[in-house]
Amino acid sequence: MSPVEELRARVKDSNRPCALTGAGVSAESGIATFRGAGGLWRNFKPEDLATPEAFARDPKLVWEWYDWRRGLIAKAQANPGHWFLAKLEIEKPEFWLITQNVDGLHQKAVSRRVLELHGNIWRLRCTSCPKFFQDERVPLPLPPRCPSCGGLLRPGVVWFGESLPEGTLTRSRELAQKADLFIKGKSGEVLAGLL
Ligand SMILES: [Zn+2]
Repeated sequence: MSPVEELRARVKDSNRPCALTGAGVSAESGIATFRGAGGLWRNFKPEDLATPEAFARDPKLVWEWYDWRRGLIAKAQANPGHWFLAKLEIEKPEFWLITQNVDGLHQKAVSRRVLELHGNIWRLRCTSCPKFFQDERVPLPLPPRCPSCGGLLRPGVVWFGESLPEGTLTRSRELAQKADLFIKGKSGEVLAGLL
């Protein structure tokens, strides 16, 4: 049996599979990781923009970068790696997907049981009140303001130096422990091979 066939058989036999995906799965959709070549914007490193300090210093600049990224992501399509995981959700009622990606492409492939460890770029969070908003406008009016209190909105993603959302992290740990198969989706190509 080839490694792919073997993994396919293990997926078939499992009752409670769980998958973890990261940048490699989105890369197949043409989304740069923002860490290597092609990911740079105006010569800024992500570490210079995706931090609470950068946002406090210059929210408009940080928002311009996120708006640019949202524009790229809006044009991207889910790929066979995403489709495989969406199909798995239909076949296995106890399947859960944990992702580090913020692009929402799993949802575009119609995955519903998704835990987002790093948040979602389409969600905006108020810095003055506890409200969240789903906003898929491209481009956004910058900087976006909270419709409820007028406060400054920030991207609903986890930045460098911030902790992961505790509830999501706890739930992810529980699911990973309970799972009878843990799939690390390092690349979309490998997952697509399981389709
Ligand atoms: Zn608000």
